[in-house]
Amino acid sequence: MVCFCFLVDQKRIMKNSKPIACSCSRCNCSAHVADMCTLTRFCYIPFYWRSWKAIVCCFCGAILKSYT
Ligand SMILES: [Zn+2]
Repeated sequence: MVCFCFLVDQKRIMKNSKPIACSCSRCNCSAHVADMCTLTRFCYIPFYWRSWKAIVCCFCGAILKSYT
């Protein structure tokens, strides 16, 4: 079971980000609304992915809000 944990990983991809009139609560930089995609991979082969929208900070990468 320990090996299994090393073989499975998750990768987050950000697509189509657009600036919005909102600032980050952590660093006060401008936030962007982005189409996100989470890939779950097994031995680097994606077998599951999920698309979602999120408001992310373009500076520190914090997710301020997410929509499924
Ligand atoms: Zn930030």
